[in-house]
Amino acid sequence: MNNEIYLDGNATTCVMPAAAAAALDVMGQRYGNPSSSHGTGLRAKAVLDGARQCAMRLLGVGAGRLLFNSGATEGIQTAVLSALINVRERQSRGEPVGTLLLYGATEHKAVPEALAHWNRLLGTSLTLTALPVDGDGLHDLAALRELAPDAAMICTMAANNETGVISNLAGIAATITASGSGALWMVDCVQALGKLSLDLAATRIDYAPFSGHKLHAPKGIGMLYVRAGAPFTPLIMGGGQEAGQRSGTENMAAIAALGVVLAALERGDTFPSHAQLHGYRARLADALRAALPGVVFNNPFDKALPTTINFSVPGVSSRELMDVFDAAQVRVSAGSACSASKAAPSYVLDAMGVPLWRSAGAIRMSFGALVDDATIATACERIVHCGAALRAGGLIVDEHAAAEPDDGLLQLGVDGECGWLVLDAASRSAIVIDPQPDLTARITAIVRGHNYRVLALVATSGADHAPLIKALGAHYDDQALTDGCGWPAITAHRLTLDDGVEVNAIAIGSQVLAQAAGGEGTRAYLLGAAEGARLPAANVRFAFAAQALAQSNVTGPQTLLCPTRDARNQLCAGHTGVVATPDADLQLDCGALDAFLLAHPDAVLVDVREPYEFAATIDQGAGDRAARSVPLSRLVEHASVWLHDDSRAPLVFVCRSGNRSMKAAQCLRRLGHPSSYSLTGGLALAA
Ligand code: PLP
Repeated sequence: MNNEIYLDGNATTCVMPAAAAAALDVMGQRYGNPSSSHGTGLRAKAVLDGARQCAMRLLGVGAGRLLFNSGATEGIQTAVLSALINVRERQSRGEPVGTLLLYGATEHKAVPEALAHWNRLLGTSLTLTALPVDGDGLHDLAALRELAPDAAMICTMAANNETGVISNLAGIAATITASGSGALWMVDCVQALGKLSLDLAATRIDYAPFSGHKLHAPKGIGMLYVRAGAPFTPLIMGGGQEAGQRSGTENMAAIAALGVVLAALERGDTFPSHAQLHGYRARLADALRAALPGVVFNNPFDKALPTTINFSVPGVSSRELMDVFDAAQVRVSAGSACSASKAAPSYVLDAMGVPLWRSAGAIRMSFGALVDDATIATACERIVHCGAALRAGGLIVDEHAAAEPDDGLLQLGVDGECGWLVLDAASRSAIVIDPQPDLTARITAIVRGHNYRVLALVATSGADHAPLIKALGAHYDDQALTDGCGWPAITAHRLTLDDGVEVNAIAIGSQVLAQAAGGEGTRAYLLGAAEGARLPAANVRFAFAAQALAQSNVTGPQTLLCPTRDARNQLCAGHTGVVATPDADLQLDCGALDAFLLAHPDAVLVDVREPYEFAATIDQGAGDRAARSVPLSRLVEHASVWLHDDSRAPLVFVCRSGNRSMKAAQCLRRLGHPSSYSLTGGLALAA
């Protein structure tokens, strides 16, 4: 925990020690209800009033309202409800009112979701319309000029949470005014608090929600500014707290803490200056450039908060970057929502017109306003360390690193498609099966980084390998003639399979890859050890284009079927007829791990994280328990060995968070290895 470098300040921040102390004081000493008229209540009310007055001065609230609530999501609901109730009243009175609910295309999801929700509930029947942004993420003022006259409400943010891009609020205000629009205007100020100076009453902003936890106050506390005279409807009714504007006894501990943070902001003696923050970002960016060749920054630094960097690295996915940074105890976030098999692009970067690979592979690095010089220095060292780990793991090409070559079968997946590499370390040769276009950078990095010679690039159905061949350059044994699937027209070996059919084969190390009959329009391949001029079914370890071969007698019960599509992350399938064992007791609790290992001295702890995560690891979460490294991408190779180990020693899979270990254990059970387990919650909890 203490060794972590937290660079995810736009998601949340730690509570400032003085703020935490104020919260404790309110919970232990000044615990009164600010609505009580006795002394204990009055002492609590003084805390509440003090925090509000400080916020009002700091934000320039003037004659407007400032109410405490649970956070920005609630503030957004209150603002939208207030505006739409007003719209509905005007509609029912037959007054002219806009028909659009206009919101910036890069708004936090809370905004369009709240607009859609209340529009539906209140029956206002307005049309939700996204206001486009330009390549820098700034609102398109020409589009605003056109749309604003028809808008009933306009929602724009002060600074974006993914990119830190600072909106041109003065330009937006001037455009709304010039268009003659009577729309109500909400500005989501969550990421701006403490980072941009705000003088709200001097603007035409009607509603401004804020959130405490983005600026070193606790979660669950926020504020809403409402301009004097702007329509207002309480979201929550009850005991009349917050002058009847937001009922429910106030969250006093959090308000006291927020009050301390706001007071520190007002004094100006606690947080680094803008110049310091710019310096910190420049150092981080330099470290990223040095560590990750080709890194591209997705946010324009000169138009963004100095606390946010959004970047992508060619050929490396956001999942892989997240994993390597996490292993180095550097907490960052994926700019995009990603699942195991498919990375969803970031809608913010998409709206900016950023290319898909960058939008799907984006990482956000953001620091809280309390960051210090030592943290940035350590962060830079760790970034360089992560770059070295990615190079050593073959994710970034480094032809001078002479990484240790691998042996056996390597599985590469992208968006549910599978590519396979057959590797032979001794001869430094490789055969690539089904290289998906998105894997070109990865395959090139592995081949060049380990100095393999690629004997063949083959596909299970027709494919264009020209871009990969070009990228591999001299590492590819150019075949003058290949068939439509990349298989060399002339192969040295002819082998007979167990169905009596003679086939072509390519030798790689002590194994052969044989081309077998696939289904219609497809090719199948078998990998195993030949015996003279035969490839007996009992020797076939792996089969590609599995469906066509599942029923054939050219494979045996030991053959693992390697898919070309693996949308459900099953890794591989067994021969039909294998009895899968149920998953009921598959999960092993961290607390039960030591007892399990004691009771099963032959059990093997298998860490399925990738080599670059090992290389980047700062603190080994598994404590001093020795774990064997079998990356998930190598699991199929190892499964084929474990399944034929008669001892059937229990296998306990571990990974960072418990997802990959679960897939590994499920795969082994499906293949008929009954004592396979997954450590719940992963290494993060096992420390
Ligand atoms: N708006 C923006 C720009 C945000 O970054 C967030 C938080 O991620 C929210 C709204 C929601 O804030 P809260 O967590 O206080 O509900």
